[in-house]
Amino acid sequence: MRKTRGASVAATVSALLVLTACGGEDASTGEAPEPSVEPSASFEAGTTMAEIQQAGTITVGTKFDQPGFGLANLEGTPEGFDVTVAEHVAGQLGIAPEDIEWVEAPSARREDLIANGDVDMVVATYTINDRRRERITFAGPYYVAGQQIMVNADNTTINGPEDLAVNPDVQVCSVTGSTPAENIRQYLASPDQLTTFEVYDDCVTAMQNGQVDALTTDNVILTGYVAENEGQFKLVGEQFTEEPYGIGIEKGDTAFCEFINDALQQMADDGAYEEAWTSTAGQYEGTEVPQLPEPDPCV
Ligand code: GLU
Repeated sequence: MRKTRGASVAATVSALLVLTACGGEDASTGEAPEPSVEPSASFEAGTTMAEIQQAGTITVGTKFDQPGFGLANLEGTPEGFDVTVAEHVAGQLGIAPEDIEWVEAPSARREDLIANGDVDMVVATYTINDRRRERITFAGPYYVAGQQIMVNADNTTINGPEDLAVNPDVQVCSVTGSTPAENIRQYLASPDQLTTFEVYDDCVTAMQNGQVDALTTDNVILTGYVAENEGQFKLVGEQFTEEPYGIGIEKGDTAFCEFINDALQQMADDGAYEEAWTSTAGQYEGTEVPQLPEPDPCV
């Protein structure tokens, strides 16, 4: 049951960073397309859609430190592809961008935020997988990324995941609770080669300090760090996993899942999906305009 409104929200979210959208543009991204807001949409009573519409606000978990997907701007409002996708879904519920409450959703916290009812949905480079599906339901996918490795621009030792085990002094960074942190283990000589932090920003700082030699996560996240730290980093090797991004919602909320899938299709049909991409993550070199993938069944 949805419990992100009222007293419970104050208690459960008080420890979280909660921001309300207030506009503004990050210099690195273009003007993201304005969502069409449907104030007259009507929903069956008792559905999550009806509850959100009636509340006039929606709480969305996203990343605050991932350029191109979810990056807090100078006003503290996140911007990027995930944010724009979330704004369009909210628009279909009659919620304008300024009425969205943004909650930072670090990788390891996403299932808890959803299962505890702290957010209505999570749009945060969130790979769909069966382990996560034990606790939540995914709408989508709306994008398919792949894991890759980023190293310092002058590194000639690491050219892909196979080079990690043969260079056991090399330290790799990733984020706790992320799929890349798990996937990379099979390529390491020992678990000591992996350093994990709560958010990717800390890995980037650790790269800059020389504490770690490589950062591994999804290619599109790394592309943002390469672009935003000119000349410092490069991607090496090919992507070696598939990471289909879903929108996480309360487990079993099939009607909301289907609603979100329809909203994504609507975005693709009216060109907003492509525009959302080209004005955000698509601004970075080496990215390609995606096609909206076929949705998974809402089970
Ligand atoms: N897509 C991967 C995941 O959901 C990595 C990106 C992230 O940590 O958000 O775990």
